[in-house]
Amino acid sequence: MRSKLVAGNWKMHGDFVKNAALLGELVTVDTSVAGMVVIPPFPYLAQCRELLGARGVGIGAQDVSEHPSGAYTGEVSASMLGDVGCEYVLVGHSERRSIHGESDKVVARKAVAACAGELVPIICVGESLEERERGETRSVVERQLSTVLSVAGLDVLRKSVVAYEPVWAIGTGRTATPEQAQEVHAFIRGILAARDEGCAASIGILYGGSVKASNAADLFAMPDVDGGLVGGASLVAREFLEIHRAAVMAVR
Ligand code: PEP
Repeated sequence: MRSKLVAGNWKMHGDFVKNAALLGELVTVDTSVAGMVVIPPFPYLAQCRELLGARGVGIGAQDVSEHPSGAYTGEVSASMLGDVGCEYVLVGHSERRSIHGESDKVVARKAVAACAGELVPIICVGESLEERERGETRSVVERQLSTVLSVAGLDVLRKSVVAYEPVWAIGTGRTATPEQAQEVHAFIRGILAARDEGCAASIGILYGGSVKASNAADLFAMPDVDGGLVGGASLVAREFLEIHRAAVMAVR
């Protein structure tokens, strides 16, 4: 059976004092039934590693360079992230795609770089509101995923987590219904199953987009929803712990 995971994307929020208070509440969480990952801005990765210790809550970065090293000012490589204790990295978050112009190919190359550096890429896919209204949800998600398959290959997908994040639900308070999420998650699993049944059966597919304590249980109860990628609600310890508890309850 696939395990459940909740990952907290802090985006560009936090400072040493606020982080210490948040991490102090997360550190005791029991991750034996469902995993938890925090994804802070780069400068706080080491603080997270130090305060969370070497086990339990995992640590991820919000971005990674597609290059292993070299003259790429401002970039951070997968091996550098590994050096500060990262285990996961987001690739292709919609804010990277839309604000920073990352193409499907760049996202796929970042997934390759993450795996080469022994990080687990959390590959984000999802449609905009206009695309959903035009009935293009499936074709957009399929295009995004197919590029990862063609550029990175199945070996990378097998070591990845996918996050379905409808752009219209991110930071808007408007959550996909559990049925809408399930429909796209099953579609994603179907695309992978056409290539490799084993990969499709074992890969974790997280839902992201205004996940809160009040809606997490219903979302996580869906058969193809393996947890959540959580933005705003991951900055509030009580809320994030409740979301994690919903993941635990969905397993039991
Ligand atoms: C995100 O940033 O990936 C996200 C899902 O944000 P929020 O939970 O705030 O919608």
